Amino acid sequence: MQVNEDFVRHPYWWDETPPWTPPCAPLPPRCDVAVVGGGIAGLSTALELARNGTSVVVLEADELGFNASCRNSGGVSIAIDATKAAFWHRLDGNGKAPPAAEVIRAAADSLAHTEKFIAENGIECEYGRNGRLSCAPTPAFYDVLAQRVERLNKLTDAGAYMVPRSEQRSEIGSEAFYGTMVVPCSGQLNPAKYHRGIADRCIAAGVAIHAGTRVHRIERSGAGFDVSTTAGTIEAANVVTATNAHAQPVDKPVNRRLVPVASHIIVTEPLADTVADSLLPKRRSGADNRRVLAFFRRTPDGRRFLYGGRASPIELSEVKTAAILYRNMVRQFPQLAGARVGHAWGCRVAFSFDALPHMGADDGLYYVTGCNGNGVAMMGYLGYHLARKILTGQKSVCVFDQPNFPKPPLYDGRPWFLPVVASAYRALDQVDRLRTGN
Ligand SMILES: Cc1cc2nc3c(=O)[nH]c(=O)nc-3n(C[C@H](O)[C@H](O)[C@H](O)COP(=O)(O)OP(=O)(O)OC[C@H]3O[C@@H](n4cnc5c(N)ncnc54)[C@H](O)[C@@H]3O)c2cc1C
Repeated sequence: MQVNEDFVRHPYWWDETPPWTPPCAPLPPRCDVAVVGGGIAGLSTALELARNGTSVVVLEADELGFNASCRNSGGVSIAIDATKAAFWHRLDGNGKAPPAAEVIRAAADSLAHTEKFIAENGIECEYGRNGRLSCAPTPAFYDVLAQRVERLNKLTDAGAYMVPRSEQRSEIGSEAFYGTMVVPCSGQLNPAKYHRGIADRCIAAGVAIHAGTRVHRIERSGAGFDVSTTAGTIEAANVVTATNAHAQPVDKPVNRRLVPVASHIIVTEPLADTVADSLLPKRRSGADNRRVLAFFRRTPDGRRFLYGGRASPIELSEVKTAAILYRNMVRQFPQLAGARVGHAWGCRVAFSFDALPHMGADDGLYYVTGCNGNGVAMMGYLGYHLARKILTGQKSVCVFDQPNFPKPPLYDGRPWFLPVVASAYRALDQVDRLRTGN
């Protein structure tokens, strides 16, 4: 089954809310805090700082809304992988990993924080708490998920439960899964509208947002920093880098603790109501839990199907990544054979080796990073906490504010191993498929 190639090569969300350049005065000579990066993380930091009397300048290389924060699928969830941290922290020899229970509770907090933030600020972003499916790609994985349900419910108010394969039709129109975990305490939003809502509140709070202004150097100068940009140099008492998978514009070890990983999405053209309803009748979001992960949801109007995943570890055209995603989508949802793709796009996000997000200060420079593909709630939450850290001078404001941020030996920030790891993951997924016949 071939994918059509006449789709729009930008995010579906941009049809209504495209990237933009807010009007602003020339770059001022100085500010209290310069925030590098105008995604959810940077803007959330800037907003809390400005609302507490700090003069803040956001420096964004592209148009506002051009990157991951407006290219994601809009899932707002408490999904976090707390299982890898201990291994990487032992390997790095940098002290203990944060306790898994605290990590899971903080992930739940990030969802509550985001819902409260949206409500209190009246952000119209089509938010709905529709719940999330975490599907079992093999019978054995069903048992893994059942254990996760138990732990999640013990630690949080998630109210998660399992639905066996024999009953999963009420949740998902696919035979590719062996049951699913349902996490009602999860939501979905329109990411471009959400990001626009935060940007508007930043501007109202007095944040100067300079889009199209790339930072190429950050240097210590007296008690503060000189930040060199394409629009000139600005002095800042404090600097926050919130640059996601893009290299940090400073020679700091943070670069060597992150792996930039590409993720891609296709969105179908409008489907017949019966087809759309058969796919995800309760309009939940979902993920397939394969090693090369796929995720899906319906668009806020319910008429289109969004399907995403790590189509390729190397740079490929949208036509090629759309073809890969389309093949996988039809394999899992055969009722979509012949559906036309309306939009396709991709973007890179920062993964950390311990699979946890990180925030903090390194030699006086603040950073927030490592969303691991799950930052809609988490990056806003961490941005808020980073601002509280700067405002209060507290040593540690949340469980992700830890000085130990693992870096494997010999890694210099160039992820030469990605194609090898992706091939191995793909092969293992294929073995699972052959075993289960799915
Ligand atoms: C396809 C896809 C699907 C996803 N789906 C989900 C999902 O359903 N749920 C979820 O929770 N998360 C999801 N994510 C992840 C989510 O989008 C990110 O975690 C989140 O947007 C990260 O926000 P950020 O502010 O850290 O990064 P970004 O939005 O990438 O912002 C970083 C900004 O820094 C700027 N920058 C970098 N270097 C410089 C420089 N030198 N000077 C000036 N500016 C600079 C960049 O231009 C960029 O705009 C998805 C991501 C992708 C790619």
